[in-house]
Amino acid sequence: MAPGGGCLGVPIAERLERHGDVERHHAALAVPGALKVWVSVYRAGDVLVDSGMSRARREVARFLASRPVRACLTTHEHEDHVGNHALLGPEVETFAPPLATRFLAEGTPPFPAYRQVFWGYPREKGMGARPAQGTIRAGGRSFRVVPTPGHSADHVAYLDESTGALFSGDAYMGKFRAARLAEDVATEIDSLRRMAEIDPVVLYPAHGPIVERPRKRLMETADHFDGLRRRAHALKEKGWTAHRIARELLGREQTITWISAGEFSNVNMARNLLRAMPP
Ligand SMILES: [Zn+2]
Repeated sequence: MAPGGGCLGVPIAERLERHGDVERHHAALAVPGALKVWVSVYRAGDVLVDSGMSRARREVARFLASRPVRACLTTHEHEDHVGNHALLGPEVETFAPPLATRFLAEGTPPFPAYRQVFWGYPREKGMGARPAQGTIRAGGRSFRVVPTPGHSADHVAYLDESTGALFSGDAYMGKFRAARLAEDVATEIDSLRRMAEIDPVVLYPAHGPIVERPRKRLMETADHFDGLRRRAHALKEKGWTAHRIARELLGREQTITWISAGEFSNVNMARNLLRAMPP
């Protein structure tokens, strides 16, 4: 880990990790004592997957300068995934699902202040992207677009068909407890199962550790959320409130709930579970 300059003098921690022919650049806001949320971009050959947070623009620019890319695959519209698309020149072919395409073209709409502090606010607009669908030929490789909605409405993952590596963005984040109300648990579970069915050789998430042979882990995670969904509905039948269900199934609220002024919370996860009807 090496402290960098960051934008506006905010200290940024960064790490570089190599995994076979894939490089992973991690960056996080490095305020002493504060929660560190790492954000990754990946480079497979000369293809970039997501562009990270604008807070780490200088660090991502340096990473890109070390070996320029020819294409960028975008998983979804969140600011820690499209934050540095503005660094990509016109020679870089960019692919994105519809919401991210709109944000790149029209600018990212305003979002809560704490996220701007953590990740920065990418204010550029007027950037074009081609639709992420079917199979994409980029940088001499072939990527299958895998629809993985739930975390965001039109999230996609990318399967490198020559290596079996799946770049999953935020479609897999382990057995997390605090969630935003915008998440759709039912489609999230389906997406986890869809990724498991592909049986990737390796899973490259935007946050958290790389997972080798992730099939079992993806199935277990889908079963975990499915189990929570069933239990949440059973407790609701008994007349329990979302707050009580959250406490019972997910435990106490965590630091992120206070930092996010309640945007990320266990009770929102309970509400999401109750919205998601069991199959
Ligand atoms: Zn996200």
